[in-house]
Amino acid sequence: MEYGLHDVVEMKKDHPCKKSKQWEIIRMGADIKVRCLGCDAIIMFTRRDFEKRLKKVVEKNAN
Ligand SMILES: [Zn+2]
Repeated sequence: MEYGLHDVVEMKKDHPCKKSKQWEIIRMGADIKVRCLGCDAIIMFTRRDFEKRLKKVVEKNAN
């Protein structure tokens, strides 16, 4: 699955806040940081863990 910086994605597990199922990718390097669109919590994954948990890309960044 292709994903990039500032894409909005859905993960297999919701954030415990239950406000949103969607996350924005805010950093991409060796690690990937995503921000919960419900509560702004930021979680960091290794690339491998992120790809394991990624369900789908909801919205590609316009760039
Ligand atoms: Zn949240």
